[in-house]
Amino acid sequence: MKVMVAVKRVSDSNVKVRVRSDGLGVDVSNIKMSMNPFDEIAVEEAVRLKEAGVATEVIAVSAGVLQSQETLRTALAIGADRAILIESNEDPQPLAVAKLLKALVNKEQPSLVILGKQAIDDDSNQTGQMLAALANLPQATFASKVVVTDGKATVSREVDGGTETLSLTLPAVVTTDLRLNEPRYVTLPNIMKAKKKPLEIVKPEDLGVDVTPRLKTLKVVEPPKRGAGVKVHDVKTLVEKLKTEAKVL
Ligand code: AMP
Repeated sequence: MKVMVAVKRVSDSNVKVRVRSDGLGVDVSNIKMSMNPFDEIAVEEAVRLKEAGVATEVIAVSAGVLQSQETLRTALAIGADRAILIESNEDPQPLAVAKLLKALVNKEQPSLVILGKQAIDDDSNQTGQMLAALANLPQATFASKVVVTDGKATVSREVDGGTETLSLTLPAVVTTDLRLNEPRYVTLPNIMKAKKKPLEIVKPEDLGVDVTPRLKTLKVVEPPKRGAGVKVHDVKTLVEKLKTEAKVL
């Protein structure tokens, strides 16, 4: 059974990004870029399926600039077998990524496609759902547990106030939530081994997909700065301020 995993190169979650001077995005030049954290969880899950003898091959896929090869090498170091970069000059939007992944799903015929529930840069939370719809595959989003047996995936999902368990007939699409697993640290020997694993580069045109953006960003603004706090001397003043100034009571 083949498992395909989608990995996106995003600004590292520990970096504080700044809005660009044109106000149309954030400045990602000269900052640390990493694999989207939910995609690390996706790769880890796929590799665990392989280690458990359930999956036979794990293919990592990324769409984006040439430097996304580094993200794919990380996926290979975690344990993916091979990687495919769909090279494009800018980050394709979720619908374009879903179409690109669908083209690869048609070609590679994986039994399971695992994506992150959302990319921490655009926070779209759309790609997995759109891929499932375009490829006409069953989907389970926000997975906190995945068990694969006899051509089926049993997936526990995080929902408000609890978990929901779904049974999907493979092939299927799963998106990962934070509690699915704890990704391993990549070791130096595995980073070295990853350099020798196959990494194929294709273009969106090779897959017959038009990645022209459909959405236009009008404005990006920083969150408002937090004002300084005040010390109050007694509970009475605190309650008064909460009523009259903060207006939360
Ligand atoms: P989003 O819908 O943008 O929040 O992204 C959800 C998930 O789709 C991510 O966690 C990735 O697994 C996948 N994804 C989004 N964009 C890309 C991309 N450019 N390349 C590979 N995977 C992507």
